[in-house]
Amino acid sequence: MQLNRIHTQTINAIWLQPDNLLLDVLRLDEIHPVISGNKWFKLKYYLQQAIQTGKTTIATFGGPYSNHIIAAAFACKQAGLNCVGFIRGEKPSDPSGTLLMAAAAGMELIFVSREEYKNRQQLFTTYAEPAWYFIDEGGYGSLGAKGASEILSYAKPNYTHIIASTGTGTMLAGLIMAAQMHQQVIGISSMKGNLSVNNAVQNLLEPHVEYPPHTLFHDYHFGGYAKHPAPLIAFINEAYRQFNLPLDIVYTGKLFFAVIDLINKNFFAAGSKLLMIHSGGLQGNNSLQKNQLSFL
Ligand SMILES: *Cc1c(COP(=O)(O)O)cnc(C)c1O
Repeated sequence: MQLNRIHTQTINAIWLQPDNLLLDVLRLDEIHPVISGNKWFKLKYYLQQAIQTGKTTIATFGGPYSNHIIAAAFACKQAGLNCVGFIRGEKPSDPSGTLLMAAAAGMELIFVSREEYKNRQQLFTTYAEPAWYFIDEGGYGSLGAKGASEILSYAKPNYTHIIASTGTGTMLAGLIMAAQMHQQVIGISSMKGNLSVNNAVQNLLEPHVEYPPHTLFHDYHFGGYAKHPAPLIAFINEAYRQFNLPLDIVYTGKLFFAVIDLINKNFFAAGSKLLMIHSGGLQGNNSLQKNQLSFL
């Protein structure tokens, strides 16, 4: 697939000066208008394996505003694969823009109850035909991490810290695999109390390999996964005004907030060079009512 050029944006802010910190943002949000951010990286090797093993249909899973669902729909279309999306929850009378676009790209949508959704492998087995290929929610799995490990090839190697938003932990695992031993990889979980993501990350790493230091923070969820209280919205608007940096309400807004908070708390040693991964997801902002964000 043709990707737009990936560039890094250097943040100029007075709060970086006292400790002489560098803060760069890797703008993966710009790589493709729809398949934005980390989702293309995570899908790449699944689609390749599906094609190599003669599968013709991708089946995957997500909620009604899922960045993964829309990315999968478009990536399958580009790859010439059929695509089925199992969507969590009742069929809405007024479907989200995400679902409308996924359907327009050719994805067949199957709505399933939250109960059924919990056991995705079972759902897959019930519906699947021999030529179907399973990709878990959010692209979780080893091939997703392998794809995400390529993200760092777009960044210079001189950063001391790599900081990324974390949902399933797939991208974080990939970043840990690709980081150098002198770097620290930091995940900011967008979910409330989802401590199991620590294990989810470990399960994607090789058991006997020594990896660079890595850690996860769980206190920047703003109330929960899809919660977007007024202070978060105000923060996102301010980030856009000051730095021309568009952020999303589910992942990267919380991430940038966490980075600034950790700087304020002197988490980073003087002279640290921080790389924040802008993992995309701006289409998710369409779940907001109009006029809440200045840049929609
Ligand atoms: C999906 C997504 C994430 C989370 O990635 P995981 O690999 O599931 O941890 C982070 N940021 C954005 C914008 C996403 O769409």
